[in-house]
Amino acid sequence: MAKMVCDSVRYHLTKTRSPSSQTAENPIADFIQNILFPKVSVSGDQGMPLAPVFTHMNGEHGDFYIPLSRPLDGLQMPRKGTVRVPGDAFQKAEEQLQSYLTGQVPVDTLLNVLEDLFSTLPAGCRDISLYDHLKLSAALDCCMTLWYENRGISPTYVPPKKDEPYFLLYSADLSGIQKFIYTVAESKALRSLRSRSFFLGLMMEHYVDELLRGCNLSRANLIYSGGGHCYLILPNTPVVENTVNAWNTRFNDFLLEQFGTGLFLGHGYTCCCANDLVNEPASEAPYKEMFRRVSGKIAAHKMHRYSPAQLLKLNHRSTQGDRECKVCGRADRLTGDMCDWCQCFVNLSRKIQDQDVFFVTTEKSPESPDFVLPSLDGQASFLFTTEDQAEKFLKKGISARKIYTKNCSYTSLPGSTRLYVGNYAASNSIEELARDASGICRIGVCRMDVDNLGQSFVRGFEQENTSSPEVQYRYVNLMRTAAFSRQMSLFFQLYINDILSGNFRDREPLSVAVVYSGGDDVFLVGAWDHVMEAANRIQSGILEFSCGSLTISGGIGLFDDHFPIRIAAEETAALEDRAKEEPGKNAISLFDPKQKHTYSWDIFRNKVLGQKQDTLDVFFDTFPERGNSLIYSLLDLLRGAPEKEGSVNLARYAYQLARLEPKRSDPRMDCYRTFADHMYAWAWNQEDREQLITAIYLYVYKNRKG
Ligand SMILES: [Zn+2]
Repeated sequence: MAKMVCDSVRYHLTKTRSPSSQTAENPIADFIQNILFPKVSVSGDQGMPLAPVFTHMNGEHGDFYIPLSRPLDGLQMPRKGTVRVPGDAFQKAEEQLQSYLTGQVPVDTLLNVLEDLFSTLPAGCRDISLYDHLKLSAALDCCMTLWYENRGISPTYVPPKKDEPYFLLYSADLSGIQKFIYTVAESKALRSLRSRSFFLGLMMEHYVDELLRGCNLSRANLIYSGGGHCYLILPNTPVVENTVNAWNTRFNDFLLEQFGTGLFLGHGYTCCCANDLVNEPASEAPYKEMFRRVSGKIAAHKMHRYSPAQLLKLNHRSTQGDRECKVCGRADRLTGDMCDWCQCFVNLSRKIQDQDVFFVTTEKSPESPDFVLPSLDGQASFLFTTEDQAEKFLKKGISARKIYTKNCSYTSLPGSTRLYVGNYAASNSIEELARDASGICRIGVCRMDVDNLGQSFVRGFEQENTSSPEVQYRYVNLMRTAAFSRQMSLFFQLYINDILSGNFRDREPLSVAVVYSGGDDVFLVGAWDHVMEAANRIQSGILEFSCGSLTISGGIGLFDDHFPIRIAAEETAALEDRAKEEPGKNAISLFDPKQKHTYSWDIFRNKVLGQKQDTLDVFFDTFPERGNSLIYSLLDLLRGAPEKEGSVNLARYAYQLARLEPKRSDPRMDCYRTFADHMYAWAWNQEDREQLITAIYLYVYKNRKG
């Protein structure tokens, strides 16, 4: 399989770089290069830099380019301007690649190297990187090769056809994530939340890797994984179909046995041909249809989750016992006052912060494993460890089923798989985070997700205002979807760490902790004002990263540090929903979903913070002797107004403002006048009044002690 991927990479690299070059006859690779991706393989002006994959997403966003870099170098924003790729950039990258193309190098290492070398160099068409092109070509090569092998025929005699269903688009989706993560006891809640969320992510990677192993494929065939969701492209053979069905059943057996009905991995697949992958004929839009079929299969699987045999087993599960796990409440598998899984998550929480190597073995584990998951044919022990220790295991002759590294690469660990994990945390303790808040000692809980991501995924590359299907769907194909998904993973699983730590653009590190970040959504907690800043950075980050093609909405709630995190999560979800109800979304909702503190990001920045809060700051900085009691009276009057124009009790409002007036001789008189004028004007207008109320809340929180 390593050789298959190597051969494919070598072939497609040569063909993409110099299309006219002579290569040995290879009908499958030719088919993929020439018929499947003709627009990609045309080698145009080789000095043009890579354009962002967002160039044709939700409208046109031209003129940007991506600077040469590697993912682990940190977040690089798309830039404007005209630059040329240095003349020898391709050649240098190709030279560096050569020693990895021997067929002896594990595929995951080769994929890491390809990503480092080619993910910011363009393939023939500018908005797709050479890495995305080579990876997907290899995936399709492998599928077709296995399909031909399975049929026992040769592509030389039976040439590939565009309407032959060689492929299976496979997808799986984990249900029950939220409940699983947020079922935690109050004490040490944050630690447990983070390790539960991390566990689910790693478990999904393991599911994908075992599935690929069973199909004799590599991670080249993984299109996307994140947020409990994955897409793979597989060969359409009976062997593969049996393998994925058997593995999914085995995995759900495990979930049922270990976690009851709380977690379930729905899956589904559909066969597809080359035409489907490039959306031909466009008038029938088969690409969209293919994704619709898979989603339908998953939904159907979720409707009929368990087989009679599984249901029987479920009924026999012991629910007897007078004691319960103090975290999740189950009555079986107890050791002490916790069940063994909840104990495991507590133990992991210490390790995930410092250890970045996860050693997986199906042999006898060299140490007691952190947890055990099923493998295709047995069990896989997971050990959270360090580079040194993992090297020692290998030297002792313990063979690794898989070695995962978190946000780093270790050349000392051959074949290791690089995972990107958004898990920045200034502290693992909610109390510690709350202490860093300015003013009121509260934690902020923030949930955000990209607006209409599903829509963008399926329809984002469609062009509007055209009656020609060829024009409408000209950018719609699996290559772009794969490249787009990869960028989303990079942003929410890797770059988010740079954004929050301040490594990106040299900013202050924020006192927040990511509970969960993957797919397209984020859940974080921290000092309340740091959480506001985090949301602000993430919003402007994704906007810039996507060249303005994606927006994000979110909710932020404030809670004291003993408030049950599960309820805080629910309340913040309601705030997030409130923000999504705004016309056009792209909004933030604060404090309490029953009150109106919901604004588009622009209004929030410019009017609530920029205009109103600044005015309050200036006034109270100039008149430090004015206590908060006055501002509370103003707030009461403003809040008492029913929602119609100018219905604030103006006489009393004016009286309160007048009480703030300094003596006529006071040099600060001008400052007072400006303030009072603004405050009058804002009280009259409903929108201004609402913004003012939010600004007063923020002012009070910021300036309250303790
Ligand atoms: Zn438990």
